Amino acid sequence: MSDGLANPLLADWLHPHGLPPFDAIQPEHFEPALEQAMREHRAEVAAIGAQAPAPDFDNTVAAFDRCGRRFGRISAVFSNLTASATSEALQAVQRRLAAPLAAHHSAVHTDRAFFARLDALHAQRQTLGLDAESLRLLERLHLDFVRSGARLPEPQRQRHAQLMQALAELTTRFAQNVLRDESDWQLPLPDAAAMAGLPPFVRAAARQAALERGVPGAVITLARSLVVPFLTFSERADLRQQVWRAWVGRGERDGAHDNRPLVREILRLRQELAALMGHASYADFALTDTMAGTRDRVDALLQAVWSRAVPRALDERRQLEALRDSVQPELAGQPVKDWDWRYWAERVRRERYAIDDAEIKPYFELGRIVQAAFACATQLFGLRFQRRDDLPVYHPDVVAYEVSSRDGAVVGLFLQDNFARAGKRSGAWMSALRWQSRNGAAPQRPVILNNNNFVRGEAGSPTLLSLDDARTLFHEFGHGLHGLLSDVRFQRLSGTQVLRDFVELPSQIFEHWIAEPEVLKQHARHWQTGEPIPDALIARLERARRFNQGFETVRYTASAMLDMALHARTVAEPPEDVSAWEAAFLAEAGLPEGCGVNHRLVHFQHLFAGSSYAAGYYVYLWAEVLDADGYDAFTEAGSPFDAEVAARLLRHIYAAGNSVEPNAAFEAFRGRAPRLEPLLSKRGLLEDAPA
Ligand SMILES: [Zn+2]
Repeated sequence: MSDGLANPLLADWLHPHGLPPFDAIQPEHFEPALEQAMREHRAEVAAIGAQAPAPDFDNTVAAFDRCGRRFGRISAVFSNLTASATSEALQAVQRRLAAPLAAHHSAVHTDRAFFARLDALHAQRQTLGLDAESLRLLERLHLDFVRSGARLPEPQRQRHAQLMQALAELTTRFAQNVLRDESDWQLPLPDAAAMAGLPPFVRAAARQAALERGVPGAVITLARSLVVPFLTFSERADLRQQVWRAWVGRGERDGAHDNRPLVREILRLRQELAALMGHASYADFALTDTMAGTRDRVDALLQAVWSRAVPRALDERRQLEALRDSVQPELAGQPVKDWDWRYWAERVRRERYAIDDAEIKPYFELGRIVQAAFACATQLFGLRFQRRDDLPVYHPDVVAYEVSSRDGAVVGLFLQDNFARAGKRSGAWMSALRWQSRNGAAPQRPVILNNNNFVRGEAGSPTLLSLDDARTLFHEFGHGLHGLLSDVRFQRLSGTQVLRDFVELPSQIFEHWIAEPEVLKQHARHWQTGEPIPDALIARLERARRFNQGFETVRYTASAMLDMALHARTVAEPPEDVSAWEAAFLAEAGLPEGCGVNHRLVHFQHLFAGSSYAAGYYVYLWAEVLDADGYDAFTEAGSPFDAEVAARLLRHIYAAGNSVEPNAAFEAFRGRAPRLEPLLSKRGLLEDAPA
């Protein structure tokens, strides 16, 4: 055990920009540091509640926004390390701290004396003469408290806190089980026969994966950047089936780490929570604090897309089967299997559009694509990125950049952690080690992090991305910009802390730039020759853009419908077997055979590795309505870098954080409410044009 003096988390953080002392932090530092920081935070809130002066905005609302800063800093480091650089020791700490951290959140957000002051101010909020951002903070904070149970009478309030603690423990175990199933499994590729069909980049990535795992030869792991290319290129249907089964079986592979009982328990507790808060279902409770507002509006969007995507996917499948039957007539009459779809789709794509991933990849070298993202941010928003190898980071993979504005002022710090490795959860995400704010002794500049899971190139070779990887990098960087460009007064309203069906707008709209020919010509250069990507290849990519979109849309929408239907149940008892329930639901919904879904419930981390996307997986589609329509503003202006549109995008979307109501923010940017058509057109679902 470390005492406070020796604990680097509790000492002053002296690195530039408030960067954590990553070079000194050990797993055993977290418990004592967080315990002390939680005590301090609660004491600060209690002091605000106990003060003699009558409540006013500054001594109560703004004061609350200023407190708990040390706790926020340390817990941000903790959650980041547990996600991207964990260990047995850290996982044990994480299990022990899950309930105390949830209890802390409840204690702060139900503090009686403080809430009495906040509630009084909220009741007279229209007569306090507040500016728009202050009013927004008061309303936001009040809602945070109400949703945390501050209004509940005593026994229910305690029960609410218990439920939050139990949920925190269960969701922690859920995530650790998925991570374990991902890091335990591998498929060795011992010989040329096992490698049949794999292009050089997949073979190289498989050798690199073996090297990192300390095993000889080449292996396929469950990193998405390996699974998807393997399913796309391997000629071995038997091996594709093995990989696919392991991939979709994450979370229910063996008894001790089976997530099915955890999902049931989580659902049972969420249902109780919803009832406690006066709602018939957890979905109703979750949706009251969103742009969509109600399940009907979400269902209408999902249905509009599903009803168009299913026939498109069936049409795609007929095309795959036609090609397959000409090559393997013995399979005629059988639908394409889940583990075969990507393989045959790739062959159709190659045949019809003369596009081959192996031809594309050399133009998407990781370093160049990072520079492309930076260059877009420079051109749109005037940001500059200066690499800072002198700063301490938590893993050698992480690269730190100092970010400055057009006039040279420092904006914040950006860290990028791009590679898949053991001890890092799958997927890609953005997080903040420090939020931007101007509510304190000195302005606080953001420290923003992006995590990706690309498979590193072999020693001496570059890391080559797929178009999908490049899009993911731009997506997370869009979230990163939302954190970095934030320009608000209050920390609670800063960066990506917006309503969850708005949060994917800044990330998804940024994906559009990596598809712009102008950006590709500049940055997508062959890693060996430096030649820009040929115009003819860009044209072929553009023609193939909507190919297989029925498949992709069906997979996503099916997962979103699963989530909504599961959390919209109003009976206290969850399904006996969630996997059986899932299969029945998907059959009833008419999921075309061979498509599969993006996430099955047993490893659906959006829903069960935390609660922030529960009854909320639809948000990507909701935000896509906004981003597809929003990006058209550039198209209409005639340039992807139109300065006026970029300035509006910066002001109303990237800089505004949660300081403005999101519908109003979008309308201020676009000049009108969003329309659905651009989304349908982007996915090729609007007209009966061939995919
Ligand atoms: Zn995102």
